[in-house]
Amino acid sequence: MIKIPNILLIYTGGTIGMVKDYKTNALKAFDFDQIKEKIPELNLLDCNIKTISFSKLIDSSNMSPKYWIKIVDIIEENYEEVDGFVILSGTDTMSYTSSAISFMLENLNKPIIFTGSQLPIGDLRTDAKENLITAFEIAARQENGTPIINEVCLYFEYKLYRANRTTKISSEQFEAFQSPNFPPLAESGVHLNFNDAYLRKENNKGLIVRKKIEDNVVILKLFPGIKEQVVKSILNIPNLNGVILETYGSGNAPTNIWFIDLLKETIDKKIPIINVTQCLSGSVNMGYYETSSELQSIGVISGKDITTESAIAKLRYLLGVGILFEDIKELFEKSLRGELSY
Ligand code: ASP
Repeated sequence: MIKIPNILLIYTGGTIGMVKDYKTNALKAFDFDQIKEKIPELNLLDCNIKTISFSKLIDSSNMSPKYWIKIVDIIEENYEEVDGFVILSGTDTMSYTSSAISFMLENLNKPIIFTGSQLPIGDLRTDAKENLITAFEIAARQENGTPIINEVCLYFEYKLYRANRTTKISSEQFEAFQSPNFPPLAESGVHLNFNDAYLRKENNKGLIVRKKIEDNVVILKLFPGIKEQVVKSILNIPNLNGVILETYGSGNAPTNIWFIDLLKETIDKKIPIINVTQCLSGSVNMGYYETSSELQSIGVISGKDITTESAIAKLRYLLGVGILFEDIKELFEKSLRGELSY
């Protein structure tokens, strides 16, 4: 007998869960316990849906590790009972949140699909229904009784992406996300087509949940003419434990002596610095230009083709787990959850 998959919907907040009160014209939160009454199409899906909402719904601008842990706690408590998860969050920081969750869950063997929408679920022209319905369909999709997806994904506007490869690229278009360095895992059209060659295979290890996240990290974005005082202040923040350095192009940065010296002093204090590119796509390749050779020789770590969202999540995760400074380079330059192409 075929078992109908049980999917847990976790609603954290964001536009997707809003409906318009037509008397006042104001947006108010939608009660997801009544989801099937409000979206009867969900009855056509072959899955049982249970919902859990945050008691206090948050705009994703207020997302933080405290809430990542809350999401992970809910996943952990329900992991054995359900076959997949759909997580609704605001889109603004969805790539950060979903990237973080991907690192916090090791040996994942079930689908976790993040989605949201640009227009509230109660809006006439909403993108929420399609995003939500297809996210459920993906979470429930199985082959020979096992899920097709075994990782943390983000579904938006007809495409399923590996979450830790995504970035939000538009505040207005329905196509709000891109995965610039990695192909979509599935595309939804007349058929739901999975890109089998890129899917992570299931593993037979048990789920490991990591809830320690390092707080003392920073993203330092370079811009032409950045002042010594600015870089110095940031790199001397008390208790700083890690830096994501957003550089130009293939990982290039100014060659000023003061700049290189400040980075070197930081690395000498055993604070890892990761080089990620400000470009939407492509990879860091230190040593390719003279303007990155020095970074490489003082021990800056290559973020390769990681997104900034994923880089900050990975660094916080590695430091949280307690990985020593000496081992960060090796682990950072290796793909742990499919976040790097090579
Ligand atoms: N500001 C909202 C949020 O990120 C936007 C959205 O839901 O898409 O929570």
